[in-house]
Parts: sequence; structure tokens; C-alpha cells
Amino acid sequence: MTYRIMIEGTVQGVGFRPFIYQLASQFKLNGTVHNGVQGVEIIVSCSKEELEGFTQAITRRLPPLSSIDTLEVAQIESRDFSDFQILKSDNSGEKTARIPPDVSICSECEKELFDPSNRRYGYPFITCTHCGVRYSIIYDLPYDRVNTSMKFFKMCKACEEEYTNPLDRRYHAQPIGCWECGPTLKLIDNVGRVPLIPTNEIDKVVELLSEGKIIAVKGVGGYHLMCDATNEEAILKLRERKQRPAKPFAVMVKDMEMAREFGEINTLEEKLLTSRERPIVLLQSKGNHKGLPLQVAPNISRIGLFLPYAPLHLLILDKLQHPLVATSANVTDEPICTNLEDLEKLQGVYDYVLEHNRDIVNGCDDSVVMVVGEQEVILRRARGYAPVSIKLPFTLKEHVLAMGANQKSTIAIGFENQAILSPHIGDLDSIGSVEYYEKNIRTLERMYGFQADVIVHDKHPYYESTKVAILRQAQEPMTELVEVQHHYAHILSVMAEKQLAGKVFGVAFDGTGYGDDGNLWGGEFMVCDYEGYERVAHLNYFKLLGGDKAIKEPRRVALSVLFDLYGEETLALQTPTTKAFSEVELRTYFTAWQKGLNAPLSSSLGRLFDAVASLLDVCQVMSFEGESGILLEALYDDSIEGYYGFEYKEGKIDFLSMIETLLTESNASVAVSKFFHTLVEMIAVIYAPYDLPLVLSGGVFQNRVLLALVYERFPEAMISNAIPPNDGGIALGQVVSSYHFFNSDADTK
Ligand code: ZN
Ligand code: ZN
Ligand code: FE
Repeated sequence: MTYRIMIEGTVQGVGFRPFIYQLASQFKLNGTVHNGVQGVEIIVSCSKEELEGFTQAITRRLPPLSSIDTLEVAQIESRDFSDFQILKSDNSGEKTARIPPDVSICSECEKELFDPSNRRYGYPFITCTHCGVRYSIIYDLPYDRVNTSMKFFKMCKACEEEYTNPLDRRYHAQPIGCWECGPTLKLIDNVGRVPLIPTNEIDKVVELLSEGKIIAVKGVGGYHLMCDATNEEAILKLRERKQRPAKPFAVMVKDMEMAREFGEINTLEEKLLTSRERPIVLLQSKGNHKGLPLQVAPNISRIGLFLPYAPLHLLILDKLQHPLVATSANVTDEPICTNLEDLEKLQGVYDYVLEHNRDIVNGCDDSVVMVVGEQEVILRRARGYAPVSIKLPFTLKEHVLAMGANQKSTIAIGFENQAILSPHIGDLDSIGSVEYYEKNIRTLERMYGFQADVIVHDKHPYYESTKVAILRQAQEPMTELVEVQHHYAHILSVMAEKQLAGKVFGVAFDGTGYGDDGNLWGGEFMVCDYEGYERVAHLNYFKLLGGDKAIKEPRRVALSVLFDLYGEETLALQTPTTKAFSEVELRTYFTAWQKGLNAPLSSSLGRLFDAVASLLDVCQVMSFEGESGILLEALYDDSIEGYYGFEYKEGKIDFLSMIETLLTESNASVAVSKFFHTLVEMIAVIYAPYDLPLVLSGGVFQNRVLLALVYERFPEAMISNAIPPNDGGIALGQVVSSYHFFNSDADTK
């Protein structure tokens, strides 16, 4: 009898076909296997018992990078095979196969990299079926060499032999190459000349790094700006040239031993650091960045470390023996640079470029994760993780394109019972970033042959993502446009990831998101299900003096809160906040506050953090997003108990009495610690009457102190683990929100 076995999931670019080939020869089965646009198709002729043993072995012995969503068997017209063969890919039909993410170098390739007797000894692009670049080099599906930027390299004989031998570790490893035939390095100076043709580029780069030079290094999903992380002068130079005074830099360390010198690392954190995704892991820094200049991450208690994931990084770190500052090379507010032309915009920042000639097709930043208690929280989902497919709790009838938010933007497409989430795109604050955003939409559309029936966007009329949505709909009038409230989308994203059905109690602690009443929400308590939501409580509104400007200047929020408390008397107060303004400014803002001029109302918890940071003189004007929260985190002291009073009436939280008491505090650590406890108390009081699952989302929950405290109090609370709690998760919530518009009669599973 002949059977067709259809397997969907992560089964391409992960050594799946050779695995099937080897399994079939063990079972002495004849037939074929090939990649299709939906997954892998196997045809075997055998008995029913043999089939059962074979399919069981498939699911039990899966290759390391693969995972199976569905495995379907059907009996087909009987055929005769004389052997088992791997056939060419079939490119027809609807595309649903997974785009495989980029994977860090495997241990076998690492061994060969440092083995002088191996023909790829020291080759910076060594790879095999189980490791290496994927998403970043793909033009189209299925994942074959001709559909990647490796198509420009003709394999040498030795590589081709490995590539075509199903028993070889490099069978169909698409990025395969060697000294003879693969990509090569080139060292360029900052005006684009090839200044030196050293015998060994790596040696030269290590020499330059040791001299304190800044090098732009082309990696997997883009360029890094790198310098010696132990060289304070080099770091200061980088900060000055990049005009990045305080935002922490990520540090790449050679191995776990070096990681432990700088960070407190628990088991789960070690697992993440050494995982094949190799994200940046935010860690408690050891003894105030001991061994590293404070300039790496000024005034904060944590540090982002990651291990080398490309063979190129390994080669550099092996020779340098020092940690490296490795920050994404991009112009502020623009996407990561992926080619020399982009990089030229940073000409004044780097001294040299370590270039290579394998094109980066899809840019992809480093991912960022942290561990809070037993929870793994992803803050930026990109290289190693993206694109990702998330199984939805129900089946969509329409093809849904979700546009995400405006900051930390991601997009998603939804069809059937899955949503595919793009990697982190970035903030849509520049023309360049909006172009990059649209490119990401086109990439997902092309790879999946996707056409939207429905476009879902944020309710905010001025978000760039909203504008793009409206433009697209104008070009394709048949598509339906749906808007969804920002914080509802936040909560929905967690519900979707956790496959929750029924009602939940959602707490959205966030920066600012457009509310149904036109105000800027962000301290929201909502009862939600897939049909809709009820805003049961929120932080009392306060005025954001200067609108958008207030988002970057904690002192403006604090001043506004002081006006709420003391009115005109504020002008005579001696507080860190009032001192941060001139007398004329104070007068002007008082008038603006009185008359409500350019002073939108907000209930944002993120802004309340800002106000507290200003009142305690921790931060008056932020140099990067989220700075006030990170600085407050560093002041938290777990030996301090107690919280401040607040009033909760008719769904509104009045926090002014808390501010009043906080102002009398002489010790900032005491004030900060009690402030954190007060927020937990707020959740406790408002959540108390509800017998519903507690769901947390929003950018403020990136604060590890707050999240840890909430977990301590509510161990059963849920936050998303696979997608970010910040606006990077909004697109998933938007996909899910479209459900009730079109499927309200359908049952939720
Ligand atoms: Zn490998
Ligand atoms: Zn070769
Ligand atoms: Fe948000």
C-alpha cells in the first residue's frame, strides 16, 4: 500500500529531509520525500504496521531545530518504488510553510572552526544543516539555495559533494560554503576604501579593537558597532559620536565564564544565553559592572550580555579575549543598517568596517530577553526567534493584516489558525523607518503569497501605521479596515498566546495609547474577552504639558501633577521638579495647565513613573525611552516595606495623596520602594472583586522590579512569554481582535 504523509511545522531548513531519508533506510522503506510550500511531503509504500512504526519514529526522533504542528496520513493510489529518494521542491499551492529563523553556530561547526586540520579552519561563514543564517538571507519560500542570497556563490566540488550527500551533516545546508567558494571578508576604512589587505582580516580587526578603534562589523541581520568593552575611552568615543549619552550598550562575551565575570546568572538565564537563539539577556550586573567601565550602562543595576552566535564573532572574541560592546548600527530612530550604503550614514561613528559579500536580505536586530522569577519575558523578538508563528485559539475566516503600533513596531499576518509575527521593526519616527516597515509587510506578503481581506490598525489617528493602513485600503477598496483600542490589543495578545477563552481581568500598564474618549490611556484595568472589553478602572487623568514633549520630559509630567495638587502655589515650591524649569517656563506652563493648552489628558502609568522620577530628582529629561523606569529600578530596596495611600472611587484611582506623601520622603530608595508597592496594592484592590484570570500587559511591565512584585503577590498572573509585553506584541492582539467582527456566530474553542 502507498501512503502520503504531510507534515507541517518547522520542517524546512532544519535537516528534515535527510532525517527522513535516513529513517526510511533504517526502516527499509521505499518512496520519496520533498519540500512543498506548506511543509514536507513523504510518499512511502509499505504495510500499515510499517507505516505506524515509521510515523512514530518521525515524531519521536525529530531533528533539533524542527517541530511538527500537524502530521496527516492518507492512503493513495498504490505505487512501486525501487529505492528512497529526495525529490526537488514543489513550489505550487498556497504557501504556509514556516520561514526558518537564523540559528547560532552549532557545537560541531565550532569544533571544526578551531580545528587546524579541518578544511574550514578559521572560515568565518562555516555552517551546516543544524546551524547558521536562514531568515536573514531568504528572498522567498521554499527555503532553497536559489531563493537565498547564497545563490550568487557557486559551490566548489568539495562543498557540492557534502551538499548532495543525504548522509552528510551538510546535506542541503543552503548557506554552505568554504574558503574556496563561499563569502569572504573585507576590511574597509570609514571613507569606503579598502585600505589594507591584511593576510588575516580577523587578526587586523582584533589589533584595531585593542587600539580602541570602533569597527562596524557585518553580522547576521545587520551591522554592529563594536569596540573593546573594557576600554572606557573607546566607549566614550562611541557614545559621543553616536550621540547616545546614557542608553545602555549590550556586551558580547566570549563564553559563559566571561559572562559570569560581569553578570549574576541563574540557571534559566544561562539556558537563554547559551540557547541556539542567543538573545541579549538582561542580567543583574555584578558589583556595579565590576571589570567594565560604568559607561557601558551608566547609573543602572543591570547589564545586557550575549554570547557570540556567528562564527565570525567567535573568531574575533577568541583572539581578543576581551568583552565587546556590540550595539546595532543604525541612525537614531532608523532601522538597523544591512548594507554599506545604509552604513555610510554612520560614517563619522566608526573607524573601519569589517564587510562581507553575503547580502543581508531581511534585516533583523538582536533579540532581548529577561528572566523574572521563573518567567522568561521577551522584550524584543527578532534574530533567532523571528518570524514566528503563533497558534490562535480559533480559526480565522479572513486573511488579516495587523499593522501594529508606532513604537517597537511589528506587523502580523493571520490566516486559518495561525498568526505570523514579523521581527522587531523599530519605531516609526522617520521616513526611513516607515519605508523599512512597509518593506517588512511586503516581505511577509510575498513569502506567504498573502493578500489581506482585513487590515487592522491602532485607533490612534496619527500613528504612521494607521496612515499606512488607510493608504493601503484606499488602493485596495475591497479590503476592510478595522481599528482597535491599543490596550485592548495588549490584553488580547496575551490571551491569544496563552490560548485563553472566556473573560479575563486585564491590567495594561503602559506608556500612552489612544483611548476611546480621545485621551491618552495607559493605566487601565479592563475586563476583556474576544468580543470586546469594559474599562472598569483607570488612573485618574492628568495633563501632559506640551503633549508629545511630555513623553520625553518627566519634569513636565511631575509639574502638571504638582499643579493638580497645589495650583499656583507650585510656582513658589522648592522641589527638584520646579528647579528644573526657569521662572518664565513655570509661569507659561501654569497658564497652559490652567487653560488646557496643548495639554492632553492621560491616565498613563508610564508617565506616572516619569513624574515620580522627576520629583525624586532621578531624571528630569530622558535621553532614551524607558530611562526613568530603569533608573527607579536601580533605587529599589527590597528591605523596605509599606506603601502609600491612594483613593479608589467609581473606577478612578486618585494618586495625588501618594505624591503628597512621597514629597515628604527624605530617602529616594524609601520613596521608590513604597511607590512600587503602591502599584501592586492598586492592582490588588481593583482586582479583588473579580473571579477572573489576571492578565498583565503593556510596556511598564518590562520593569523587572514591578513584575517580580506583582508575581510575588499573584503567582498565577499571566504575562506573554513568546511575544513582548510592550508594543511589539500589539500586532498579535490586533489579529485576534478582528475575530468578532467577522466570526461572532462562530464558537470559540
Ligand atoms: Zn553547524
Ligand atoms: Zn566550497
Ligand atoms: Fe502600548
